[in-house]
Amino acid sequence: ASYFTEIKQLPPDPLFGLKARYTADPRSDKVDLGIGAYRDNNGKPWILPAVRGAEKKLIESPGYNHEYLGISGYEPFLTAAAEVILGANSRAISESAIVSQQSLSGTGALHLVAVFLNEFFAGNKTVYLSKPTWANHHSVFLSAGLKVDTYPYWDAENKKLDIEGFVSTIQNAPQGSIILLHPCAHNPTGLDPTPAEWNRILDAIAERKHLPIFDSAYQGFASGSLEKDAASIRTAIDSGKISSPIFVCQSFAKNVGMYGERVGALHVILPAGESAESKETLKSAIKSQLNKLTRSEISNPPAYGAKIVATVLTDPESRKQWEEDLVTMSSRIIKMRNELKLKLIGLGTPGTWDHITNQTGMFSFTGLTPDMAERLEKVHGVYLMSSGRASVAGLNDGNVDKVARAFDEVIR
Ligand code: PMP
Repeated sequence: ASYFTEIKQLPPDPLFGLKARYTADPRSDKVDLGIGAYRDNNGKPWILPAVRGAEKKLIESPGYNHEYLGISGYEPFLTAAAEVILGANSRAISESAIVSQQSLSGTGALHLVAVFLNEFFAGNKTVYLSKPTWANHHSVFLSAGLKVDTYPYWDAENKKLDIEGFVSTIQNAPQGSIILLHPCAHNPTGLDPTPAEWNRILDAIAERKHLPIFDSAYQGFASGSLEKDAASIRTAIDSGKISSPIFVCQSFAKNVGMYGERVGALHVILPAGESAESKETLKSAIKSQLNKLTRSEISNPPAYGAKIVATVLTDPESRKQWEEDLVTMSSRIIKMRNELKLKLIGLGTPGTWDHITNQTGMFSFTGLTPDMAERLEKVHGVYLMSSGRASVAGLNDGNVDKVARAFDEVIR
């Protein structure tokens, strides 16, 4: 008997498919500009010195064990995580207006928001995503039953942010829609709004009573500054202009280099001006529902990574080291952007290359076409997404020259 007559095989995930082809490629000078994970100047994964130190402190601390966490997660982690993203002086913290739930990294936080909003949101259950965005955003929200739509973001012709299209789409979306925002280091374009542009975006969201979700996957990783990379979130919350709750999905994959440990949190921030009583009622209700969801899906969140990140955030020595590690990673990436640009200019490669250094964070939207990306892979063993997105962390002193020459050859 056949039990699965309707099941169809899906194509491989584009990113993980790329990774598999890279791994199978026997060329010794191949270059991986695919997956968004930091590499050191030798092209190797990097365990942050802050993490090494925190791990040691943690394991040697009295009472260390592997017991289950509570359903909300590791409380010292949740408190420290909220403080690092919102800022110690946040209105949300002083007004105790936050519900935090530990999640399976950033993706898990997005999933919780998606299921929660699909069940409880009384507004327009359509999530507006930037065009383009991290491909998994579409899958996460669609799988949960929400609708997705897009707002313009990348102006391909001028290789810059389409701020007019962005703002007018938000203004024209049905009142009370869901807007997903990348607070910094936009994936895949690496292009972020300026502070003045953020004000326009947040004003439009406030005016239309939309509900914003901030997907923070790169705090501190983009600029090296935790404050700067969280500025858009902090403005949204502290300005008090947004009348809806604000959802913040927080990943520690990149900025602590804990990719595989799945450390993250969802913070729900209630708007200012609620009476103390209704705020407490709402907080308890939200918390109970997030707990119920977590309990049914994973029972309780993973402990190990959360304890390490809590130590990194709260132990003064580890915290100092981490802030240095963030500068190490972000400045190496910025240096590689510069070198790639200078080499392309030096080679006289057709086109303009300022966008490579104007973009921030892990990725550069190079402007290369799918055909060019294919030729890069086949002829040169340089792997990047067919959209032209390159993970700049894959560049180093040993391969940037080769990559520039390969770009030059496929562009001409
Ligand atoms: N959001 C964005 C924009 C991302 O780039 C990523 C990682 N690629 C994530 C969320 C989620 O990452 P993780 O689940 O590993 O924290």
